[in-house]
Amino acid sequence: MTFTATSAPVASTRDWWPAMKLGFGGHCPACGEGQMFRKFLKVNDCCPACGEELHHHRADDAPPYFTILVVAHIVGAAMLFVEERNDAIDLWIHVLVWPTLTLALVFWLLPRFKGALIAYQWALRMHGFETVPPKVLSVVKPL
Ligand SMILES: [Zn+2]
Repeated sequence: MTFTATSAPVASTRDWWPAMKLGFGGHCPACGEGQMFRKFLKVNDCCPACGEELHHHRADDAPPYFTILVVAHIVGAAMLFVEERNDAIDLWIHVLVWPTLTLALVFWLLPRFKGALIAYQWALRMHGFETVPPKVLSVVKPL
């Protein structure tokens, strides 16, 4: 009796760009109908519309990293631009505007980056998002 591994059928490819756009909007990358998040950053275990499993994601620290990268460049550049153009602005306006703008951008971008990243992982079949069953051992009878 010989055991050999048979390969499962090759899964169809998933287009990562439309999936990331759906994820950026907080929608399921598989169907585009269901919501990816049940709370602010809590991902649904499965899509409520199509049942696609979403709990496999490993977003980890990437969404905060990209959020900080983008927000720091926007707010930092805006602060420098305003300061260079008009240094007569009162300090209390700076204290009010920049933290408010920073928090608004962070709360807007963070779930979007997380959704896009999870959709990217889904499109590339990373971390359990593959739908192809694992290799199955089959029994080959000797001739
Ligand atoms: Zn879905």
